[in-house]
Amino acid sequence: MAKKILILPGDGIGQEVTSSMSEVLQYLIDEQNLDFQLSERKVGGSSFDEFGKPLTEETLDMAKNSDAILFGAVGGPEWDGLGWDDRPEQALLGLRKSLGLFANLRPAFLFNELASASPLKNHIIENLDILIVRELTGGVYFGEPRGIVDNETPKYGFNTMIYNEDEIRRIAKVAFEAAMNRDKKLCSVEKANVLEVSKFWRGVVTEMSAEYPEVELSHQLADNTAMQLVLNPNQYDVIVSGNLFGDILSDIAATLSGSIGMLPSASLNSSSQGMYEPCHGSAPDIAGLGIANPIAMIASLAMAFEYSLERVDLARRIESAIKTFISKGYRTKDLSTSNKFMKTEEVAPSIIRILQDEHE
Ligand code: NAD
Repeated sequence: MAKKILILPGDGIGQEVTSSMSEVLQYLIDEQNLDFQLSERKVGGSSFDEFGKPLTEETLDMAKNSDAILFGAVGGPEWDGLGWDDRPEQALLGLRKSLGLFANLRPAFLFNELASASPLKNHIIENLDILIVRELTGGVYFGEPRGIVDNETPKYGFNTMIYNEDEIRRIAKVAFEAAMNRDKKLCSVEKANVLEVSKFWRGVVTEMSAEYPEVELSHQLADNTAMQLVLNPNQYDVIVSGNLFGDILSDIAATLSGSIGMLPSASLNSSSQGMYEPCHGSAPDIAGLGIANPIAMIASLAMAFEYSLERVDLARRIESAIKTFISKGYRTKDLSTSNKFMKTEEVAPSIIRILQDEHE
């Protein structure tokens, strides 16, 4: 059966980087004669401008019926004054919630040629290659009860951090399986020294490790992980964490590699349906200038091939082409140390040439 792919470019550079990604996708469809059905819809601010909503019912239905959603980025100052429900970012939350995308996979890696872009010293950051698996639909961001009580003295605000066994098991399963395909090391991160929910999390993950005897499991407190990510990031292979700690740790990890335009992400549900997007936003400051780096979006396509489209071989080929692209010295403006750089529209043709060369 044909695989269905929905492309949602969004706003700002979202449109520029998805256009580059689509060129690479189309090349592979032609080369491999893939039975893929592609659709494209507006989302975020551009959807609000045309349909009065950041995410229409029709787009949501199409997303639910897709195997993979390739999402650019949404937002921009022109929509900042809108009410909460109309804001472009609501499209992201709506998609995550409706599709049950509970597992957020955020690789953080460094091409050694780009080590000088990292805020860390070369010998600490070289060869960085870690994967953060963050639980995305539970924990304190969604726990009930929650609220602000302002009719008592003193007034207070409160939230609930809660994880049930099933939620922990399904995210831990994703992490253990990812570790099996990598260096077989998994670090589970929480605050078991002060939070009951974390103590429970640690117990469930430990119990599950019996099913993955080849994976070396360790546990770490979140504050220590934040520090260790900066002191010695190469000690990690896969990190699994709840929503709150995962949010913070994945941003630290993304910063380490020094270039936000390089890092992809995947958000998956239990039927391997996934939404794939770069870690960056719509970058209104450079939108329309043709200087956005589309590699994070192209690397997100590689993740889609791996996790939703059952073509790990094509995922590896795209990753290898990106590696070659960097080692040949090609640089977009964000990576360039001189005033010579490649424009966005030149990147996909160059990646495609490498894909052709490496295929022969
Ligand atoms: P941003 O990631 O858009 O930009 C941060 C900085 O990184 C900017 O200087 C930008 O020019 C640069 N940058 C980002 N991606 C780049 C790329 N591919 N190539 C070269 N340079 C790149 O973050 P921001 O400025 O905080 O947010 C801008 C808008 O994006 C806001 O409206 C925000 O809400 C939205 N946003 C959307 C998402 C999403 O759609 N997933 C994520 C984050 C932010």
